[in-house]
Amino acid sequence: MNLQKSASPLMDEQLAFAERVADIIKATYVEPPKACVETYGCQQNVSDSEHIKGMLLKMGYLLTENSEEADFVLFNTCAVREHAEARVYGNLGALKHLKRRRPGMIIAICGCMVQQQSVADRIKKSYPYVDILFGTHVTYRLPEFIYNLLMGKKRVFNIETDQKEIVEGGPVSRDGDLKGWLPIMYGCNNFCTYCIVPYVRGRERSRAPEEIIAEAREMVAMGFKEITLLGQNVNSYGKGEAHGVNFAKLIRMINDIEGDFKIRFMTSHPKDCTEELLDTMAECKKVCHQLHLPMQSGSNRILKIMNRHYDIERYLHLIDYAREKMPDITLTSDIIVGFPGETYDDFCETVKVIKRVGFTSLFTFIYSKREGTPAAIMEDPISREEKGKWFTELLKAQEEISRKGYGEMVGKTYRVLCDGEGRVPGRMSGRTDGNVVIEFEADASAYGRYFLVRVNELTNVLCGTIID
Ligand code: SF4
Repeated sequence: MNLQKSASPLMDEQLAFAERVADIIKATYVEPPKACVETYGCQQNVSDSEHIKGMLLKMGYLLTENSEEADFVLFNTCAVREHAEARVYGNLGALKHLKRRRPGMIIAICGCMVQQQSVADRIKKSYPYVDILFGTHVTYRLPEFIYNLLMGKKRVFNIETDQKEIVEGGPVSRDGDLKGWLPIMYGCNNFCTYCIVPYVRGRERSRAPEEIIAEAREMVAMGFKEITLLGQNVNSYGKGEAHGVNFAKLIRMINDIEGDFKIRFMTSHPKDCTEELLDTMAECKKVCHQLHLPMQSGSNRILKIMNRHYDIERYLHLIDYAREKMPDITLTSDIIVGFPGETYDDFCETVKVIKRVGFTSLFTFIYSKREGTPAAIMEDPISREEKGKWFTELLKAQEEISRKGYGEMVGKTYRVLCDGEGRVPGRMSGRTDGNVVIEFEADASAYGRYFLVRVNELTNVLCGTIID
């Protein structure tokens, strides 16, 4: 666990609550109680959960991944897709029996899903065994919520949105020891018509560059070999802030930190992705040549209805510019199939563009309606079944493109960071600068080290041999 440098007064207050909770826990339990945090959704949530776990350790809990043995269970939820929400309700239902067997346990829920008033109301009414519910703006106040509950408050529900300031200085318990998340900003100003994020995460707020640099330095000192900068739209980092550091400048500052480590970032928005940023990626040795640039649709008509603020010509210009500056760059994207009003012709435009670009891989989704967003009330005449057919067609097209791209890697040599075991015994797995997985013969001592690996073949994964 590491404590960030400068705790803000609001965090000092919470650290004091954490101490009080720790005292109560010491006086109540013979063995330290256990806490289980289940995370749904994106990397931003994974990072938030790392901060929550840091605070739970500070309060005297031990962490467990098994909710059956936990004295405190927290679901950190996602609101992006209907399916994820349904899963949370199902898993919450299962906790009812657990609580009946262990009445002393605390059940808590937080994150984007519960930031929606309708969801908070439903949980309050239909899930009376949920003790604590808190939204994305007050995550840092968990110690206070637990304290209030332990002091006799029946239930704690808080989805306030007045907290605009970023509260720095809390403890972090990172899940990994090799690759780490580093949030640089929160929220989003873009209001894409299908997306719930601006409503549940609020407006963009960027962390001060000195806080980010201090945390990056600390991660490097701890031995992290890869730092991924996180934000809903990292390209607009620093906009409207007095410090005058934009995303490209921030990357240069992190690149200047001494040490053998690499920098990745996500997610980019094509509207704010600049040539300056692509030049910076090409010039900074520590920045991986990997760009995830969500396209969402290849049809200008649909991009306009999605409120994406770019057209496909600009998107392709960015792709061509990135390739010109970094011929080895790996490109990936997000695509939504079946957006309200999309026709088969629009869909064919998307397929045309993905063939033109040749993405290494794609994250594809069938449109999921989110109540409260403009798209939720748009006419959507295409059936789910029809959308499913388009989706399969897209997957097939991308599969061919990916396979061809991976096939072209055979015979070439790549520097990879070994980050885990391979799929068969005797093999370890690593990732290239472009985030492509290659497996090679090695034992566990290879973990955390860089190797030069020559790719020999493509089966269901790329396999190679260490040459240095
Ligand atoms: S850029 Fe658009 S899709 Fe991304 S988080 Fe913001 S509103 Fe949602």
